[in-house]
Amino acid sequence: KPVVAIVGPPNAGKSTLFNRLTKTRSALVDDFPGVTRDRHYAAASWNDVDFDIVDTGGFFALDKDAFAQKTHDQIRQAIADADAVILLFDGASGISAFDRDLVDLVRGFSMPVFFAVNKIDHPGREEHLYEFYALGAEPLYALSSAHGHGIAGLLDDVAAALPETKTETESDPVRMAVVGRPNVGKSSLINRIMGEDRVIVSEQAGTTRDSIDTLCRVNDRPYLLIDTAGVRRKSRVKQKIEKYAIIKAMESLDRCDIALIMLDAAAGITEQDVRIAGYAFEKGKACIFLLNKWDLVEKSDRVFKQIKEDIRYQAKYLSFAPILTISALTGRRVPKVFEFADAVYAQYTHRIGTGPLNRIIEAATTRTEPSMHHGRRLKFYYAAQTGTRPPTFVCFVNYPEGVHFSYQRYLINQIREAAGLDMVPIRLWLRKRGE
Ligand code: GDP
Repeated sequence: KPVVAIVGPPNAGKSTLFNRLTKTRSALVDDFPGVTRDRHYAAASWNDVDFDIVDTGGFFALDKDAFAQKTHDQIRQAIADADAVILLFDGASGISAFDRDLVDLVRGFSMPVFFAVNKIDHPGREEHLYEFYALGAEPLYALSSAHGHGIAGLLDDVAAALPETKTETESDPVRMAVVGRPNVGKSSLINRIMGEDRVIVSEQAGTTRDSIDTLCRVNDRPYLLIDTAGVRRKSRVKQKIEKYAIIKAMESLDRCDIALIMLDAAAGITEQDVRIAGYAFEKGKACIFLLNKWDLVEKSDRVFKQIKEDIRYQAKYLSFAPILTISALTGRRVPKVFEFADAVYAQYTHRIGTGPLNRIIEAATTRTEPSMHHGRRLKFYYAAQTGTRPPTFVCFVNYPEGVHFSYQRYLINQIREAAGLDMVPIRLWLRKRGE
């Protein structure tokens, strides 16, 4: 995530601005390891751009009218770590002893810098704005952090200047593939979804030749149904060869976020279903089992429990995947598919902050210590999330080869539990770090 640093002389209103920028979110303030405590971090979001804000205000504690070397160094470091800087001046008291140094300091870096004059609370104050042009800092944004004036314009420009700013947003479609054996009801489900009058549908070319994906909007959220043409065409020409179905499923699986693995409730989970499920697991896909044709079976807890146990036994590795009973034919519980998809997708794209993640690992390794490796104690130094889809973590250890498989699984389960990632696959890599 990009980082925006707020820099400025003491009393310019940095923390007021910081609070205003983070107020909409529950200003989650994280202590990143290796970072001094007086730097304040929070997550913020503007125009669908997610970034972290750092308030450097705490650095000035000891400085009355000139820079202490330590303050100077800390601010330089905060700027060096940032992708954009807001240099905030005090429009009520005018140019301060620090301002020229700060302008020189930021000039030494290449990231975009936004000069803003704070405390321009009413039109009469605007004349104070102009004296700051003497610093050669342009353009100047006039702000009132206390009243909220000028903030939106500043943030528009800051957000636009951030690198690679587009992160997950509500407008990215959730990519779903319906996979399963011939005749389990895949086309029936897709037709059912596309036939709903509340659903807006459009078709788009898929990535492979003659594959067609369908974009649909359900409850105002976009979903991309992968290769709907392939699913339906196959049923039209009655080309229901098992081998062909597997290849088709693999192609669709490669491109999806969520695999909707459809089973025939009457048949239970078959060998071919297990192969498809295994492939989805290897690819790190989020999965939901759809037990279709539920209208045909005796609907009882006993029957459901039996099928569920069977699925859990046959596809152990997908124990996190929700199991949902539906009837594509009658449409019963089909809306549930989207409810579950939303919940699963939120977990699949979830990010844990570095601070909370390290606290989880620390608590886990303290509670249950790993066994020794050739008489040496295993040390877990530091963990970070390196990716999403699926959530992927790396942990630095003195002897990664000494971490037992079952201990790795224990750590994964601890992350699952603490971060509420109970419905998706998780990857944890162990990397060596010297002592
Ligand atoms: P596909 O090969 O997986 O795309 O399967 P189809 O959608 O072509 O369905 C195969 C057959 O199962 C068709 O005759 C459907 O009408 C039937 N079918 C699909 N879903 C259901 C369901 O939920 N209940 C019942 N009773 N029949 C279904």
